[in-house]
Amino acid sequence: MKCDLCNEEGINIHLMTKSYGKGENLLVIENVPVMICPHCGESYLTADTLHEIERIKLHRQSFAITRPVAVAGYALPNALNTNLHSNTQQM
Ligand SMILES: [Zn+2]
Repeated sequence: MKCDLCNEEGINIHLMTKSYGKGENLLVIENVPVMICPHCGESYLTADTLHEIERIKLHRQSFAITRPVAVAGYALPNALNTNLHSNTQQM
């Protein structure tokens, strides 16, 4: 398979867990195929994968299995709270 970016052969596909949204809207999608190119070092999702993720998001009620997730609140020192933005990692 060729890299979309540098057009070299030999791209690797890694299955990764991605999370979208946060709080009650948090959606975790497992086994998302991420293309990782050993030549240019880029990692990206194909258009098909992005399309499928959008489909899963739209139909999350029917696709998703609700599992208990442990979420721990990190207690921040007060000094940090003033200029802190909620910064959940998202795509
Ligand atoms: Zn590449």
